[in-house]
Amino acid sequence: MIRRNPCMANIRAGYLFPEIAKRRREYAAKNPGARIISLGVGNTTEPILPHTDRGLVGGAERLGTREGYSGYADEGFEELRRRISDVFYKNAFGIDEIFISDGAKCDIGRLQLLFGAGVSVAVQDPSYPVYVDGSVLVGAAGGWTGEGYAGLLYLPCTGENGYFPDVSKLPENGLFYFCSPNNPTGAAATREQLSALVRAARDRGTLVIFDAAYSEYIRDPSLPKTIFEIDGAKGCALEVNSFSKAAGFTGVRLGWTVVPRELVYQGGESVNADWTRLSATVFNGASNIAQYGGLAALDGEGLAEIRRLSDFYMENARLIREALRKLGVGCVGGDNSPYIWARFPGRDSWDVFSEILEKCQVVTTPGTGFGPAGQSFIRFSAFGRRVDVEEACARLSRM
Ligand code: PLP
Repeated sequence: MIRRNPCMANIRAGYLFPEIAKRRREYAAKNPGARIISLGVGNTTEPILPHTDRGLVGGAERLGTREGYSGYADEGFEELRRRISDVFYKNAFGIDEIFISDGAKCDIGRLQLLFGAGVSVAVQDPSYPVYVDGSVLVGAAGGWTGEGYAGLLYLPCTGENGYFPDVSKLPENGLFYFCSPNNPTGAAATREQLSALVRAARDRGTLVIFDAAYSEYIRDPSLPKTIFEIDGAKGCALEVNSFSKAAGFTGVRLGWTVVPRELVYQGGESVNADWTRLSATVFNGASNIAQYGGLAALDGEGLAEIRRLSDFYMENARLIREALRKLGVGCVGGDNSPYIWARFPGRDSWDVFSEILEKCQVVTTPGTGFGPAGQSFIRFSAFGRRVDVEEACARLSRM
């Protein structure tokens, strides 16, 4: 029989969410009447708003007509790429620098294929799991050591450093995944912090994969929504973004990646040209229906809906923060992001997870699931129905 890919043997079996599901099942089996509420996942819960939805429906109808039909859209509709450049980047990019995708996570996986096995990789610790797991899958990181994956550089983001890593440690000529607003800590990097990141990346030849999936949750106007607000970023960064959390497209699937023309490898070759080549090889473009929805989401009415939808989840975040404040639990996030990172000093994340489940019948996410520096933290997600969030907040008083 075929030999197993050794990288598959290196990756730990689905650890975090399956373990959470198992503990939830066990609790439910022992407590059959319990109504368990989840504040544990990043999946959206609210319906797509009407104008954006009409874009999707209208797009599906167009595909049923002779004049409106379209097939493969390769790098994406030109009009959508132009609108993304206008809405998010003040037209700083040509359409050949913007690639429409079926979501940020899928593009992160393809970027990992692009940079391959031989690259040094650093991540924020804690971090969104695909940066780490995908690096293992392509062989850029080795087996589990008990504390992390071999060969991967974990840059701690803790209360002591304001949840911003020591960028003097970026891997020379390597890759660094940076997410702001951050999943899971909820921290949104300031202009000064991002300027320091860009300076360090340029000095050390590090390429930054900037994940801006939560940019529409930024409320403080002084905070950058994209790395490209920082001078010099075009020479050291690319950016992934998504309609998932902004427009409720988690199940529709639409995102984009910006790969500046200026971005080159050490030999001077174009990253943009390689990305175009790789995308054409393993990806056939995002759904045209989703792209019609994306166009609607980015016109005047659509942008107002993005604001309304994100405001809804931000109100959930405020309720959760308030409930934690009443309990005297220290937390960050939830002000420019939909995640709240709550600290339980001296305690094990999984023990706190179990206590919240048992006393409140609320499912959360233990911080250690996002990396070693997540120990003693719990992530609360603001993605939920309002009745559930209110009920969960009331129950937290039992802690
Ligand atoms: N990036 C971050 C930081 C996320 O938290 C998520 C989803 O939870 C994604 C990307 C995935 O985005 P998409 O739905 O576009 O694949």
